[in-house]
Amino acid sequence: MIELHAPTAFLVTVAVNVALAISLAAAGSRANRDGLFLSAIAIVLHSLAFGLFGLQGKINDTALIIVAATILSASWSMFAEGLFQFQQRQARHGLIWLPVILILTVFFLFRDNISVRIISSSVIYCAQVILILVVLNQGRRSTVGRGQYFIAIGLAPVIPVFAFRGFLAATEQADKVLILASNQIQAMIFLISIVSTMFVAIGMLIMSKELSEDRNRLLAAQDQLTGLANRRSIDQTLSDEWARASRHGNPLALVMLDVDFFKKYNDQYGHLAGDECLKDVACALQQGAQRAGEMTARYGGEEFLLILPNTDADTAQRLAERMCAAIAALEILHEQSPMCVVTVSAGVATLTDDTYKDVDSLLRGADKALYQAKQKGRNQAQMAPELHLQSRLDKNALSSFVRLSWHPTYESGYSVIDEQHRALFTQINNLLSAVLDGNSAEDVGTRLDALTTDIAQHFRDVEAIITRAGLPDSTEHAAIHNQLVERAIEMVSRFHDGTLGIGELFQFLAHDVLARHMLAADRKYIPFQPTPK
Ligand code: GH3
Ligand code: MG
Ligand code: MG
Repeated sequence: MIELHAPTAFLVTVAVNVALAISLAAAGSRANRDGLFLSAIAIVLHSLAFGLFGLQGKINDTALIIVAATILSASWSMFAEGLFQFQQRQARHGLIWLPVILILTVFFLFRDNISVRIISSSVIYCAQVILILVVLNQGRRSTVGRGQYFIAIGLAPVIPVFAFRGFLAATEQADKVLILASNQIQAMIFLISIVSTMFVAIGMLIMSKELSEDRNRLLAAQDQLTGLANRRSIDQTLSDEWARASRHGNPLALVMLDVDFFKKYNDQYGHLAGDECLKDVACALQQGAQRAGEMTARYGGEEFLLILPNTDADTAQRLAERMCAAIAALEILHEQSPMCVVTVSAGVATLTDDTYKDVDSLLRGADKALYQAKQKGRNQAQMAPELHLQSRLDKNALSSFVRLSWHPTYESGYSVIDEQHRALFTQINNLLSAVLDGNSAEDVGTRLDALTTDIAQHFRDVEAIITRAGLPDSTEHAAIHNQLVERAIEMVSRFHDGTLGIGELFQFLAHDVLARHMLAADRKYIPFQPTPK
């Protein structure tokens, strides 16, 4: 059995509330706008209401009760305001403060009817607490952490308490819940009130702490100037995305961008203007990469990085080109740049087919590609050289690859010609191996150049033999050779540009040039001579 001494209970409630309010006010500040200050005011109002109730019998009762009940209602409303503020939502002031006006009106009109007063105030307080719980629930997804559950736990018991009060009053037992009655029911009400306020206040403190931790986390991951993700978050995201891409075999693309002639921009327009320019560029880049999972980050200085999960090389290249165009379209005046506006260059690298063995090599790939874009005249996007090659090694091309093998029937009898034929076989086979082994684009390029030069040389040697032998059509045949060489040069250049696959190039070199022309057409012209044994 709990022995209740009502005046003492009032004093304890008021003292606890004041202590909690002071703590909340000290922890929060109006500038933080995290609802702590408004909650502190709510708790002060709460304790003021209790203080006034406790003065019953000492000063004019009717006025006292009207004022106290109204202030109690105002404390719930104030708390709802605090919660809206914490959630950074537009508070619905009308809905929040309507109960206060209702209480005032009903208590004034029915100041002599205690049952109506208790029933109406119980219903209104219940409605206010339910409203707070609804607001809490609406913002629960954007509210981080556990503080909100403390508030819910603190507030939930208030509803049955008031419902019970209302029920007693409705069943002619209002005397049991007279505010100054020293009975069991009132003892429970005081107890719940104190515990509830403590839970609510501590819940607000936890929420505020969790909110500021969240903000700090965000700040630590953000670049101060542009608001983009900073180097720290790049490292984290890259290692996560690399792991995910490797696990599922998905492509992962990086686009590294660097503002062109930015030093000159700073020199001409000043560092502050440079900062503004970087902000504009950052904003445009962010707008261009908004698919879920994509990250736009400031890599450092005037360099930016786009991390594009599930994006293949061609898509990344197109996006990078769009970004270059978007920055030029900002038309930020830059008189020292050839375009007269600020432009960016971009390098693209994609994790596909084990081209890169770790995050750093992928970054280096993008950086190398960026360097190429700068070399080729800026304001453009380039693919990493490794990728350039790799992107063309699709499964179909691979399956169409064949190896050339020499057969004695290919011998023409002219040792010079046969040696050259064999050498061309080897060269084409080596070229294939170089492509399949993923050798650098430079290596493949050198091999292709050597091959076309050797083919041209071979044709000239064949022409010399034909002419020497005094065969007819030698001029026409030389013209065919020239056509083939020109075609080879053109196809090699298209291969370098990325507009021709290795499959087609190989088909041309091995089939059209070597098999159909050299081993078939040419041999008709070359007079047969048995190979000396
Ligand atoms: P390139 O076209 O080859 O990239 O030439 P660039 O002048 O852009 O390259 P460089 O690396 O020589 O110069 C980069 C300049 O960017 C130098 C540096 O002062 C400037 N910069 C780096 N960070 C900031 C920044 O936060 N604000 C401003 N205003 N300038 C910056
Ligand atoms: Mg730079
Ligand atoms: Mg630059």
